[in-house]
Amino acid sequence: MVDIGLVILDKELRICHWNRWMQLHSGIYADKIVGSRVFDSFPNLQRPRFLTSCKSVTTFGNFCFFSQKLHHYLFPFKPISSLDAEFKFMQQSCTMGPLRGADGQIDYIFISVHDVTEAVSFEKKLLEMNMKDALTNIHNRRSLEMNIRDEVDRHKRYGHPLGLIMFDIDFFKNVNDAYGHQCGDYILKSIATTIEKSIRVEDVLARYGGEEFCCLLPETTLEAAVVLAERFRKNVAQKVYKYQGNSIKVTISLGVASMQGEKMTAENLLKKADQGLYEAKRTGRNRVVTMT
Ligand code: GH3
Ligand code: MG
Ligand code: MG
Repeated sequence: MVDIGLVILDKELRICHWNRWMQLHSGIYADKIVGSRVFDSFPNLQRPRFLTSCKSVTTFGNFCFFSQKLHHYLFPFKPISSLDAEFKFMQQSCTMGPLRGADGQIDYIFISVHDVTEAVSFEKKLLEMNMKDALTNIHNRRSLEMNIRDEVDRHKRYGHPLGLIMFDIDFFKNVNDAYGHQCGDYILKSIATTIEKSIRVEDVLARYGGEEFCCLLPETTLEAAVVLAERFRKNVAQKVYKYQGNSIKVTISLGVASMQGEKMTAENLLKKADQGLYEAKRTGRNRVVTMT
């Protein structure tokens, strides 16, 4: 009745024991499978990593671990819960090791199979929650900062251009005051969605603060980033946001910067774009200012 799969193979990799758990998840009864080679029912195991592991168990008495992170599963079973629908197969952590007879000789190999689907699914969701902004569903500040650090490293190694646009909604406090905070939230979400749709998959759009956003643009020159920023500005300015019978128009101000030179850091890049944004606000709003 243990809640793990237990399989015992002999040295020819014939199945000698197939516990209740394995019967339940494979749909194959022990009396149908015991005596056959494991590859007869699971041809996916006939691969170098599995074969060398069996050899190392029978020859040297080693223990081998098949982590879910690297292998996902050994036995292709259906996940138990419909909550785990994102996985086609049950995610497994498996251990393999020797079973010795009274004389100390290795006679058999055991494989234990743990279902870790639920844990992996939670881990994925937690990771997503940690990196996403709950209101707009785009990257949050933590995720942006991690991405900027990675891209700055890549820029230093390969010299590819890296652009950054920072923007902030103009007079947003007035929108909240006039139409309510929920209407403000709706506009924040709409702007994030509109802009997210207009960028490439490798670009990272993030909510940097309250009504302030950043868009990180790998492989993008300053000139191309300015063209894109101008497009963001127009897209937002042209749109009419409809909320509970009200038609609302908003504008954004944008600062654009790009990575130039070895000595520049992620902080410098953010600071430059922020200076551009400040300048755009100072000189009238609804504009793009480029910092070179
Ligand atoms: P400016 O053009 O100088 O940026 O003016 P502003 O009114 O946008 O700037 P200010 O910094 O004075 O106000 C920002 C406003 O953004 C105030 C705050 O209520 C609003 N805000 C920040 N986060 C949220 C949010 O999550 N939801 C809503 N609805 N409003 C928010
Ligand atoms: Mg603002
Ligand atoms: Mg602001």
